Amino acid sequence: MDTLQKLDLLGAGAQADLACGKCGEGQTRVRDDIGRWIYPAVRPDGRTVKMLKILQTNACEKDCFYCATRRGRDQPRTTFKPDELAETFDQIQRANLAEAIFISSGVVGGGTRTMERMLATAELLRGKYAFRGYLHLKLMPGAEPAAIERALQLADRVSVNLEAPSSEHLSKLSSTKRYSEELLAPLQIARRLIADNPTLRDKTMTTQFVVGAAGESDREIVARTTQLYREVGLARAYFSAFQPVPDTPLDGHAPTPLIREHRLYQTDFLFRRYGFTFDDVIFDPRGNLPTESDPKTVWAVNHPEFFPIELNRASKEQLLRVPGIGPISAQRILQMRRTRKFRAIEQLARVGADEKRAAPFILLDGRAPTQQLALFPSLKM
Ligand code: SF4
Repeated sequence: MDTLQKLDLLGAGAQADLACGKCGEGQTRVRDDIGRWIYPAVRPDGRTVKMLKILQTNACEKDCFYCATRRGRDQPRTTFKPDELAETFDQIQRANLAEAIFISSGVVGGGTRTMERMLATAELLRGKYAFRGYLHLKLMPGAEPAAIERALQLADRVSVNLEAPSSEHLSKLSSTKRYSEELLAPLQIARRLIADNPTLRDKTMTTQFVVGAAGESDREIVARTTQLYREVGLARAYFSAFQPVPDTPLDGHAPTPLIREHRLYQTDFLFRRYGFTFDDVIFDPRGNLPTESDPKTVWAVNHPEFFPIELNRASKEQLLRVPGIGPISAQRILQMRRTRKFRAIEQLARVGADEKRAAPFILLDGRAPTQQLALFPSLKM
């Protein structure tokens, strides 16, 4: 198999891994037109880069029920040797097709052995090819501390895909992965290494969940995510609505509606940018996020005691609770208020807010610009 054929197979294998900001949040299925397996990705510093997503190998000894790469599935298998992948990426980079790389892998011979090959690729990139760009390495299930430490030294970001919010749910997705020992432990080890070593302080960690194939509720996913933000300093969580893959054990399982993935991203955004906590999130009686509206509007409708707020006096924290007002528009409102008052709802559009969504929740100098919360009876939980 030549290099281009390998790129095609191993790029396809990495497709399901979100791995980067722009691969999530509704853009998971958009590919950059400059290359089949090159994606726009957001680095931790906010810069968008072109990233090659690739597997070191698509051979795998695990049996994850949703995965196209699972053992025993009839499909061509191949492996990039470290020098082959490093040289290939060097050429891609020199051709200005990509400036960042994400390396994952099927598992062969356990997590640590699998990582040896990935680390050898990373060593070549950083050493022989003097690559200084963004490198994201997947930590393999059950990887040992030394391999995790080397990955942190070489990569900008590492990740472990938990896939499910608990051991019980993971057992519905795989019979060969152990939740605490193989998936949670590498995140915890990485957390300790980052905390103990000042040279690793700027390294970040992410995880990913397959949504809807294990009978889990949104509440369970959100609870696990917030716990990881708190306890292991997770930088981001990604959510992938389950889509059945032919010839896998979950082939006949219903696909998860993309709106569920979208609501999880919106909720996650509220934690990271709006100061919301787990206790602020409102779930339906089955423990899922309401799909009819975004989680911030649902919160607002269910907290009539908080509204309406006076736009000309509200604090930044209050403004951030208003549907249609985001962190940037809240900041602009505060700046604009220094020189003039808001007297008309149309002024909100000028600071980038969505005035129609905000209108039921605000007052302008004591006047309500529109009918208040009675607008949303169906969102009362
Ligand atoms: S470990 Fe599971 S998810 Fe990863 S490649 Fe193997 S079968 Fe797929």
